[in-house]
Amino acid sequence: MSKRRKVIVANWKMNGRLTSGLNLAQEVAARAMEERPLPFDVVLCPPTTLLWPVAETLMGSGVMLGGQDCHYANHGAYTGDISAGMLVDLSCRYVILGHSERRMAYGEDNALIAKKVAAAQLAGLVTVVCVGETLDQRAAGGAEAAIVTQLLESLPDRYHPAQLIVAYEPIWAIGSGQTPEVEEISAVHRKLREALGEAGVAVPIIYGGSVAIGNAGLIMKDPDVDGVLVGAASLSADGFWAIAEKAQ
Ligand code: PEP
Repeated sequence: MSKRRKVIVANWKMNGRLTSGLNLAQEVAARAMEERPLPFDVVLCPPTTLLWPVAETLMGSGVMLGGQDCHYANHGAYTGDISAGMLVDLSCRYVILGHSERRMAYGEDNALIAKKVAAAQLAGLVTVVCVGETLDQRAAGGAEAAIVTQLLESLPDRYHPAQLIVAYEPIWAIGSGQTPEVEEISAVHRKLREALGEAGVAVPIIYGGSVAIGNAGLIMKDPDVDGVLVGAASLSADGFWAIAEKAQ
């Protein structure tokens, strides 16, 4: 069995207004308080507008906070962006980088992600670096090699493994209700760990893509799966917490 602690990350994406977001965070915090000390790590990544109010809500609950993206620069003329240091100011300890929605919608490539990882790690954040294949890559075979290349190119030459989480998120599984077989997830995670070499031994490799109450237990039972990144199902406190508890 892996000695790595399981990590459950909620990606709220662009969901949650002040009232609904705070209610959700309060409910998650309440469940966490009932279960302290938590046997797994829980990270909420709300939209930027909610980071500070959610930070206040989570205080003392043991649930941690993360951003959904950051710029590679510390500051400057980058309208609409947020820097890693600004996320730290808002009490974030984590940041998701290279999510496929950003890669596809904003043309973020591996080189850019690597610059963001370097900046975020320098600011002290744990970087959740997302990788995953398209349906076409899967159909053509060789998806594993493509994912490994994507990961290695998305990391800066010098990165801190202690500040790295890899999220394997097949693009075709995100929001589709479909997931790979657990054996397939496991095989990809082993390949990714192998690619990281010695540094990879302690790096949590988590799975994301249509994680739900019905599949989370089976997925996280696999010793090569160190947790899950949850999108849609993280928008309900009951559902999200039921998923998190499958980590035990
Ligand atoms: C995601 O986009 O990171 C994700 C995992 O989404 P969902 O759980 O909704 O598939």
